[in-house]
Amino acid sequence: MPFPKASPKATPAGKAGQVPAPRPSAPVARLLRGFRDLLPADMTYWEHVRKVAGRLVTGYGFSWIDPPVLEDATLFARAAGRQSDIVTKEMYNFTDASGENVALRPEFTPGVVRAFLEHGLASLPQPVRLAYWGPAFRHDRPQHGRYRQLHQFGVEVIGSGASVVDAQLVALVYHLCEELHLPPVSIQLNSIGCANCRPAFRTELVNYYKPKRRYLCEDCKKRLVRNPLRMLDCKHPDCQQYIAGAPQIVDWLDEACRKHFMAVVEYLDGMEIPYVLNPHLVRGLDYYTRTVFEIWPTADAMGATASLGGGGRYDDLVAQMGGVPTPAAGFSVGLDRIVLLMKEQSVNPPPPKKTEVFLAQIGEAAKVKALKLYEQLRTEGFVVAENFSKDSLKAQLEIANRIAARYAIIIGQKEVLDGTVLLRDMDGGMQEIVDYGKVVADLTKKLRSGVEPPVAPVPAPPAEPQPPAQEGKP
Ligand SMILES: [Zn+2]
Ligand SMILES: [Zn+2]
Repeated sequence: MPFPKASPKATPAGKAGQVPAPRPSAPVARLLRGFRDLLPADMTYWEHVRKVAGRLVTGYGFSWIDPPVLEDATLFARAAGRQSDIVTKEMYNFTDASGENVALRPEFTPGVVRAFLEHGLASLPQPVRLAYWGPAFRHDRPQHGRYRQLHQFGVEVIGSGASVVDAQLVALVYHLCEELHLPPVSIQLNSIGCANCRPAFRTELVNYYKPKRRYLCEDCKKRLVRNPLRMLDCKHPDCQQYIAGAPQIVDWLDEACRKHFMAVVEYLDGMEIPYVLNPHLVRGLDYYTRTVFEIWPTADAMGATASLGGGGRYDDLVAQMGGVPTPAAGFSVGLDRIVLLMKEQSVNPPPPKKTEVFLAQIGEAAKVKALKLYEQLRTEGFVVAENFSKDSLKAQLEIANRIAARYAIIIGQKEVLDGTVLLRDMDGGMQEIVDYGKVVADLTKKLRSGVEPPVAPVPAPPAEPQPPAQEGKP
């Protein structure tokens, strides 16, 4: 179709003397429901948590991995189970332009396992320890501290079935909370057995709940058939009354699972990591085997429905994904909730480093000199600040004062001609003239040697004629 020619009627604003009507302003762009922006004030918390988490995983011998956000949708159904809430209710999946059924990851583990298999990481010395950090997506009902784009930090240890791995994972998450100075957390621990011993327990559980079926919540009526273990952590008041009397899986563990769990508990005792045995802890995903754990804040601040994270062993998942049977375990924590807990409990990240030097300039030639000096100071590692878009010295020094800079360097026209700078001690107001080429060394002596030499007063002006004074010059 040919592009339609603009008719003269369509441009009435051309008429002489006619003021065009103001254009209607565009509607203000808005966030999607359940999503949020992390603003600079939030990011100081996130960067701090990332730093602490990074130090920890390095200490425990992990390497970082970063699988894509978008994967084949069947990957998550294969892992979490087709009946899990995460897949049936919460997953963002859609058909893309090339007709592929894709999904935004609701969790990391399936993607990490896929990457492990696809890139032959199984040939590395076992176990392979991988850590991840990033967003995941769940179309959940938005509530306090819960977002549809959530952020997770987690680790996977692939290639070891040893109980010591489980205990070290619990230790890692415990030390994460400790090193973040979170209020005391409670680590809940359970074993949900294996493919060998769980079916008998499952039958026992169904037998227990069947006569109570009509009193159960709607979800549990479905769970009774599809996923009976999940009934044990149902939060619905109708179901709560039956949980205490329900059979406990620890009584149904086979010998191997029992020994494994006992060893985990003994290692935790040995490391003096506190935990609580919770016989009703099952976790929401089908792939868990043996040890499962969750981290809960003990403070009431966040209500009783929000765990900070959790994890466990998933010995069958690698085989389920098409690999050779490989035992594995991992955990993830919800960063949104950790940061929320920090804020609610006034656990602040360390304050940013104080500005050591503020660079002020008057005039174009001075600005060029100041720009060059700024780069020099920055690469030398000084915490340096400027506001080169301001021309008035007064305005620049006000900023230096407001951010409590320790020193200010002032370069005006006279200093450009003399090859010097004015170095002002912002605490005492004393200032001295320093050679442009020596000011970095001078500042290093003043700021890095520990003891600061007294600032010499500005010498009397020399007798020779001066260049004209600058606007706002001190
Ligand atoms: Zn077992
Ligand atoms: Zn229920």
